[in-house]
Amino acid sequence: MENIQALAQMTSWLLTGRILFLLIHILGVVGFAYIVAKRLVPLFRGNRDLRFNRPLVRLGRVLKFWLGQWKQPRYKTAGTLHIFIFAGFMLLALRAFSVLIVGVSENFVMPGLSGRAGSTYNTITDYAATIVFLCMVIAVIRRLVFKPARYAVPARYGKGHTVDAVFLLSLIAILMVADSLFAAARAAAQSQAGQPLEVLAAFSLPWMLQSALASTSLPTLGRLYFGAYLLHEVTFYFLLCYRPFGIQFHVETSFFNIYFAKLDREILKPVRWGVSDEHLDRVKSFGVKTFEDFTWKHMLDFYSCADCGRCSDNCPANAVGRPLSPRFITVKARDYSFQHYPVLGRGKNGTALVVSKDSGSIYSEDEIWSCTTCGACEQECPLLIEYIDKIVDLRRGMVDDGNVPQSLQKPLKALESRGNPYGKMEKKKADWANAKEFQQICRVKTLDSRNGADTLYFVDSITSYDDRMQAIGRATAKILDHVGEKFGILGAAERDSGHEVRRFGEETLFMALRDHNADAIKASGVRRIVTADPHAYNALKHDYKDVPPVEHISQVIAREVRAGKIKFNPIENEKNVYTYHDPCYLGRHNHIYDDPRDVLDAIPGLKRVEMSRSRDRSFCCGGGGLMLFYEPKEDERMGVKRVKMAAEAGANVIVTACPFCMVNIEDAIKVAGLDGKMTAIDLAELVDKQIARECTT
Ligand code: SF4
Ligand code: SF4
Repeated sequence: MENIQALAQMTSWLLTGRILFLLIHILGVVGFAYIVAKRLVPLFRGNRDLRFNRPLVRLGRVLKFWLGQWKQPRYKTAGTLHIFIFAGFMLLALRAFSVLIVGVSENFVMPGLSGRAGSTYNTITDYAATIVFLCMVIAVIRRLVFKPARYAVPARYGKGHTVDAVFLLSLIAILMVADSLFAAARAAAQSQAGQPLEVLAAFSLPWMLQSALASTSLPTLGRLYFGAYLLHEVTFYFLLCYRPFGIQFHVETSFFNIYFAKLDREILKPVRWGVSDEHLDRVKSFGVKTFEDFTWKHMLDFYSCADCGRCSDNCPANAVGRPLSPRFITVKARDYSFQHYPVLGRGKNGTALVVSKDSGSIYSEDEIWSCTTCGACEQECPLLIEYIDKIVDLRRGMVDDGNVPQSLQKPLKALESRGNPYGKMEKKKADWANAKEFQQICRVKTLDSRNGADTLYFVDSITSYDDRMQAIGRATAKILDHVGEKFGILGAAERDSGHEVRRFGEETLFMALRDHNADAIKASGVRRIVTADPHAYNALKHDYKDVPPVEHISQVIAREVRAGKIKFNPIENEKNVYTYHDPCYLGRHNHIYDDPRDVLDAIPGLKRVEMSRSRDRSFCCGGGGLMLFYEPKEDERMGVKRVKMAAEAGANVIVTACPFCMVNIEDAIKVAGLDGKMTAIDLAELVDKQIARECTT
């Protein structure tokens, strides 16, 4: 460039431009590499995590969730902003790289970006810089003026993050302005000198700045050109090195976090990767007790959180004021990591994470017990950050230390001795089916070496022993009988599925229950399993090995309705408005959303409405993870919030397909003062009531 001194030749503070920029490059790159290396130290001290399988599936997920920003539109405003910013960054990456090199090699042109391709790319990136700049302005205004509630930091979690967020957003805005000013000053100088003009995209930020600089003298343009470049360089490298100190680190880590994200979300993490159940006795300490007990991938999760607050915004525990907010499970662990593995100085490790007496602990017992393992946080997180495995691992650590809430000790002991949390006798397990009156309507056989069947109805503890839930068991049996299923139950040989026990963190007890049931199932010779309990369904499907395939009763009913084997009488009370509550372990954990709805829609005259939170955004009723036996401090029950949502949707009958949901929802209807105005019914009960038939046995 003749009329505007070449960057490399310009001098500042007695250094030529080339040397100055080279120094900034070296300092920036070395500094960044050093900081990232220090950030990786705890990952190397963390536990194993086998995430290197199925590379093509993982790449597919990178394309969908990272490049495709799949989850962002779930939050319209923030999601759209993020998509624009992400796309802008992707487009500007080459331009930023070229600009960096131009400082030391004035005539550098990125291969493939000369001539028309280069002009087209420049036009696109002029707009990209403008859009990113505007997005930053909007994001700052949102943070400072509109202040979405999910960004707030409750006092118990420390100081707010707004200053940091606004600082980072401003730095990116400055970067865009510097980039645009650099291009504008160059184009303005070319224009004044009558040289072939580098055309800037009309109405873009560089174009507007060029227009503003039209009458500026050439020497001033030269200084602006140099100054804009210097500002771009310094801001670029400052951002690069500053990001690993806070939420913006996700810019670097998100690609890897999504690539290594858990592929089978429904399968719980083993106690120790690479250690089989048979060799668990060799593991000295179960679960997570210190930071270094987390796996390296879980530590990468901590670095990758963008602090968007979506997880906590959807967390039912957070919504009812329990002392749990998943966002802060991550933020606290990340802060812990930064503090204990500083960039300057030596790391110190080994502090207990969940012992309230220990001043170094970051989590409280109640916080960790408050989770229902509903999965809403994981469903929402755009970066696929995991929570259930971490919380279960923290619980495993507490259980291993004998740190179990008082109210849970009794059910756990009963599970150990009697195989159910109520401490009831095994021989009473089939009482619900053996009652004389019921046997006359529908004979349910108990499977043994002489009495075989194709199908096992796995009942599980709550339906077997809870007087109210036994009605679900009887309805399920009648439906199976109606469709001609040759089925039976295990009776006294069936123990609790262990689903909640495992999520509670009692792995050894879970294994004992699982092995007992698996042996009984195999001995029964059945070819498939049906259950009406989504928790049992989830356990049999994902926690058990080598047992026959399992279906939830809603799947069986939907299939038989489609096949014409089940027909319905019309609804008697046409004034009733029904809504379906998705149980977490049927919906979010197993993606069964349509079958129950299809069944309801097949009942003539049934009016159905959707609640504001349904399907994969369903709101947990509070029943998972042994929560029926544990009542953490909360402002309102989850079930009460849920029945209010049903009332808001205009429904007066809540249909669910889970006995745990039924306990909570029926109770919540009373607590909410809706007794007489609202009722709850299980899908199997409703189907049994509406089925057009006489019992055939
Ligand atoms: S699993 Fe559910 S209750 Fe637990 S942290 Fe996530 S959203 Fe909250
Ligand atoms: S964990 Fe995910 S959803 Fe939660 S704040 Fe972090 S990035 Fe957002």
